[in-house]
Amino acid sequence: MSITSIAGGAAAAIGAVAATPARDDPRYAQIVDTLVSPDATQAQRDHAYDLVAGLETADDTPLTDAVLTERAAQAIADDRTIPVVVAEVAPLVAPGTALGPFPSSDAAAIDMMTYSNPLSIAANLENGGLIFRDPDGNHFFVTTPMGGTLDGFDPGQVPQPDGMALVACYHGHADYSKTDGSRTDKAGDEFNSDHFSAQDKRLADRGFWGSVIYVSTPSGDFRKYDAATRQDTVIN
Ligand SMILES: [Zn+2]
Repeated sequence: MSITSIAGGAAAAIGAVAATPARDDPRYAQIVDTLVSPDATQAQRDHAYDLVAGLETADDTPLTDAVLTERAAQAIADDRTIPVVVAEVAPLVAPGTALGPFPSSDAAAIDMMTYSNPLSIAANLENGGLIFRDPDGNHFFVTTPMGGTLDGFDPGQVPQPDGMALVACYHGHADYSKTDGSRTDKAGDEFNSDHFSAQDKRLADRGFWGSVIYVSTPSGDFRKYDAATRQDTVIN
């Protein structure tokens, strides 16, 4: 009688441990803290931790911190259920990788352009990407920036994930420049870089890359043009 009782108690204790894994490896926790957005829920953080831990136990030899962090960024991006810190994850995944979920198209664009606009200005080359919506929910995803030229960006190069609806594109207008490509200041700019071009707005009006277009500018302003309302607004 007493033996049955002890066995039952032990089984219950094991069950309790299995239901709430410790998730107490400081190395995995550190990677989660680095890559996962502070806005993520505890369940999302736990899921991220389990993805990271799974990467290493699946391998025979321990991974270096750098390799584990890079693989974790890719795994978390591919999972598409965990909000990320864009500035940490974007440099570790292939250009054109969709990151998210975000609660809105604007939130996705602002987060990504906060990362991509300084790169566009520093290189004095346009960059950009696409924004998608998951048709089953209200979750938005934005691709990490791919490169353009001094005065153009081709959205056609951006990979489009299966099963997602294209809603918008974004691009960065590089630095203030003369038409020969040399840098200048705001007064000397020959591209009207702080505003949409007429061609930018036509792109949204035609709707092939979504009916909304975003631009980040050398002034630091982010603008949105919505073909549905013909409104051109600063959103940051
Ligand atoms: Zn433009």
